Formats: sequence, structure tokens, C-alpha cells
Amino acid sequence: MKCPLCDGGNLKRRKVEVEKYGTPVGLFAAEVCSGCGEQIFSSKEAAKIEAAIKKLGLWGVPVPSRVYKVGGNFVISLKKKVAESLGITSPREVILVPQVNRNRLVVEVP
Ligand SMILES: [Zn+2]
Repeated sequence: MKCPLCDGGNLKRRKVEVEKYGTPVGLFAAEVCSGCGEQIFSSKEAAKIEAAIKKLGLWGVPVPSRVYKVGGNFVISLKKKVAESLGITSPREVILVPQVNRNRLVVEVP
């Protein structure tokens, strides 16, 4: 089957590793384009992925935030709703995991 996106490649069925926000979700069947690499999932497979993401607690839309400068350091604000969903109700220590190659900063709440 021809790729609907690039028109140059063929779709081949294979298992692909799915990740969400840098966390592996699992292997799922997809049609993968030999040209552009686009991965197309069936609605049945997409439902399985959604269920796996929810099970991992990764479901939700990315929340925009802002970095402020305080003295020589920077402070990231966290919306009340997001903080509470992580069990943060008062000032506390968290662990920051910079993923520089991906322009990402993961905040772990131990
Ligand atoms: Zn393609």
C-alpha cells in the first residue's frame, strides 16, 4: 500500500516502540512508511495505546508553564491543579532530570 502522506513510500506492517513524554509505553502494530517513516495505527491499536498510556498515568495534555528569574537562579511555576495531581500541596523537594538532547526537563516527585 502507498503512503497517504508522502506518496513515495510503501507501507509495511511491523511492531514499533511507542513512547509518551520519553517513557516507553510498549510495542504496537503499525503500518510504517518506507519513505517518510510515518507510523499509522489502526483504530483498534490506537485504543490499546491509549489504554496503556492511561495505565502508566501519562494521560493528559501538556501544560504550559513559565520560567522566572529569581536572583541568579530560575524558578518554574507549577499550576495548582497540576501540583495537586502529583500530590504536591506545600513546598517540597523534587528531583529534576534534564534531558538536554531532547530539550526536556523531567520533574520527579519522590
Ligand atoms: Zn510516507
